[in-house]
Amino acid sequence: MAKGKINVAVENIFPLIKRFLYSDHEIFLRELISNATDATLKLNHLASIGEFKGNRDDIKLEVKLDKEGKKLHIIDQGIGMSKEEVKKYINDIAFSGAEEFLEKFKDEKNDSGIIGHFGLGFYSSFMVASQVEIHTKSFREEDEAAHWICDGSPEYSLKKSNKKDRGTEIILHIAEDSLEFLEESRIRELLLKYNKFMPVPIKFGTKEVADPKHTPKTSKDKEGKETTEDQKMITVDNVINNPNPAWTKQPGDLKSEDYKEFYHELYPMQFEEPLFNIHLNVDYPFNLTGILYFPKMAANIDLQKDKIQLYQNQVYVTDNVEGIVPEFLQMLRGVIDSPDIPLNVSRSYLQADGAVKKIASYITKKVGDKLSSLFKNDREEFEKKWNDIKIVIEYGMLSEPKFFEKAQKFALFPTVNDTYHTFEELKEKVKASQTDKDGNLVILYATNKEEQHSFIEEAGTKGYEVLVLDSPIVSHLIQKLETENEKVKFARVDADSIDKLIQKEENQVSKLNDEDQGKLKTIIEDIVPKEKYTVQLEAMDSQSNPFIITQPEFMRRMKEMQQTGGGGMMGMGNFPEMYNLVVNTNNDLMQKILKAKGKRDEYVNQALDLARLSQNLLQGKELTDFIKRSYGLMN
Ligand code: ADP
Repeated sequence: MAKGKINVAVENIFPLIKRFLYSDHEIFLRELISNATDATLKLNHLASIGEFKGNRDDIKLEVKLDKEGKKLHIIDQGIGMSKEEVKKYINDIAFSGAEEFLEKFKDEKNDSGIIGHFGLGFYSSFMVASQVEIHTKSFREEDEAAHWICDGSPEYSLKKSNKKDRGTEIILHIAEDSLEFLEESRIRELLLKYNKFMPVPIKFGTKEVADPKHTPKTSKDKEGKETTEDQKMITVDNVINNPNPAWTKQPGDLKSEDYKEFYHELYPMQFEEPLFNIHLNVDYPFNLTGILYFPKMAANIDLQKDKIQLYQNQVYVTDNVEGIVPEFLQMLRGVIDSPDIPLNVSRSYLQADGAVKKIASYITKKVGDKLSSLFKNDREEFEKKWNDIKIVIEYGMLSEPKFFEKAQKFALFPTVNDTYHTFEELKEKVKASQTDKDGNLVILYATNKEEQHSFIEEAGTKGYEVLVLDSPIVSHLIQKLETENEKVKFARVDADSIDKLIQKEENQVSKLNDEDQGKLKTIIEDIVPKEKYTVQLEAMDSQSNPFIITQPEFMRRMKEMQQTGGGGMMGMGNFPEMYNLVVNTNNDLMQKILKAKGKRDEYVNQALDLARLSQNLLQGKELTDFIKRSYGLMN
């Protein structure tokens, strides 16, 4: 038996390992299973090139829990190690790896990012174990099996093992402060979190349950005490993982049902079907596979859970894909798997990394291509899905210039009558009727069909198209479209009277002469609160309403942009709640207001309240007063 001392630069690394990333102790299992998987895949590789000819039937990993013995076993049938290899790989290489890792990151444990997800390797087992044993036998039959024991001090022992079969068994003697890792449910949880899609089958065993076929007998012992025979235990072993998840297969081998099935495998608590999926598959200039899903956004604003999961060679790493997946696509679901993403670096470094930037732009491009082809191949289906996906697309158009360009071809603009146009189609359609006297093409839109109903109606009588744009970021998008398209202006239907929104050459003649107009303006201004309304006289159709309340497009849009953030609106202070009161001088009511001295207040207030009512601006006491006044007028 050999005794030895691990070369240690720091006096004792193990207390350090223990302290390191306290909350991440659980990763030890992932690290050990990754090693066991690597050893198995290496053996498979050797077999494929004829270097190994032994039996590989039913090759698997096993995780066994021995609660009584306070041990956790991780067993593989991989290449194993000779005594010399244990010395080299475990004592020297692995140890210096762990040491280097800790040295590098000991000051950075507060970076809540990806650091700590990888790199500690075999020695992470000392985060939870007071003693670790390795029994290992190399695939080279002539090599003796080895038994390594280390109790957490730099001393280890290395002797001959009587292990007969090929592979490695790691035995963790779970430390008193880590007893949670002796709980079956905890280990199962970890296996499902990190190893659900590992490429080698993992059996998790020794779940002891009462044998239902066996009824325990009760009998009296010599002293007459009642004893119950121990319930007979049977062991339930089952494979916990799916070694061949959908993203590792070729798109051509998968049907749409397979993609859906995988979605539910990935998110067992998700009952909604995804709208469609995008299979990612590149091997140059970086390696990346994965499947992204568009969920129904409208019904699913809970974007916190069920996020995109990042894997490396089928090992789960994290569901924080910030910096890797472009922000607007982080609303999607699914899996990406890439060995080329550096993980033991900080987020800010990650974002500056060239390979990672390429990955992000590849993903953006693939999503753009998929949307283009869905649009081209089945426009009707695409239109049906639009309201569920628009938020992602609109957000992408705002944040990624390349995506904006591509999206010009498939981004849709629905009208109040449920017809869907691309921006080009829309411009073509409304060009003739909605170009104003200065040559601006005015695109009318509503954000709420119900609330802006009377304005939509008014625009309809003129034969204008009104869009429904109701995403929270729509004011930003409109701003962007106006910048990109010269002589195109957007106006919400209630931003002014319809004739003012799209001003044509021929002005309606006013029934009132200049003097009466001046009088009327003064009367109304004296009655309505000045700090809230700017009175604006207009000669409109006599059938149009006498009063209309509008809110100027610019003011309202700036306010919305301020609320949703960005747009350089910070620090501009709050916009006051101001409206225009458009007075239709051609409506017969104006004659009444001018003539009837005693009832002026009543007429003006009544008309104002009706205008407010149609804008949903009348509430509380004012609404009660309005109702009373209305009954009064009936008498
Ligand atoms: P890494 O896996 O990053 O190389 P580790 O510290 O986890 O670092 O392991 C060090 C080395 O020990 C591995 O590279 C491998 O050569 C060897 N090793 C660890 N576990 C096993 C195993 N189960 N079977 C065979 N070799 C192993």
